[in-house]
Amino acid sequence: MPRDRVHCVDCREPIPGDARVCPHCRALQPSPLVDVGIVVSGVFAFVFGAILALMTIGTTRLAGFLLLVVGFGLAVGGYTRHVDRTAERRAR
Ligand SMILES: [Zn+2]
Repeated sequence: MPRDRVHCVDCREPIPGDARVCPHCRALQPSPLVDVGIVVSGVFAFVFGAILALMTIGTTRLAGFLLLVVGFGLAVGGYTRHVDRTAERRAR
């Protein structure tokens, strides 16, 4: 799948994948990769934390719980951020 055919968030015109500003309507393009990265690392931390919390005892278990909470926050936060921005864009 070619990565260089992306569409503007505002006018839906095809723009270069690395363009930060749309050449058609000058809308600033958000980078969904950041959101995806946050969510993926959050889920990863969540799963890793769950494994630690379930499989170990003592300090490691505490660290696992901490990772679980942080990972959950990251995943939910990243997803909410993405949804918020999408809704913001739709409203305009
Ligand atoms: Zn545009």
